[in-house]
Amino acid sequence: MEPPGARPTDQLKGETVDRISLAQHAFERALRGLQAWRRGAVGRCGGEWVVAGEGGAIYRVDLREQSCSCPDFEHRGEPCKHLFAATVARAKTAECSGCGERFPHRELVELTEDSHDGLTYFDGDRLCGECADGAGVVR
Ligand SMILES: [Zn+2]
Ligand SMILES: [Zn+2]
Repeated sequence: MEPPGARPTDQLKGETVDRISLAQHAFERALRGLQAWRRGAVGRCGGEWVVAGEGGAIYRVDLREQSCSCPDFEHRGEPCKHLFAATVARAKTAECSGCGERFPHRELVELTEDSHDGLTYFDGDRLCGECADGAGVVR
């Protein structure tokens, strides 16, 4: 039995709509983040993720803190497209064990027992082309 005056059905509807629009917002930002990554807007600067905004501004994204320096994030406190773009970039890259920079997976050389001298790096370490050549890794 519903108490008189209450309209639980309408409330529920309102809540559902809110949730859907929230999810849509998040989805749109994720999509726009993916597009930003595709057009090469994500880079690294001084060990930090930086994402170029459409207006030419550069925003700093901290994936550990899950924060971004853009006004959108500052106003809403929700993941913005730059955060999504940097998340994609991180997923597509790995850190070089030599220089610590991040490279696409295909550009990294994974060291095996026979491919290196075993003194500088460990088996399973991944090196960028330059570090691999510097360490005399057999490719
Ligand atoms: Zn942002
Ligand atoms: Zn390297």
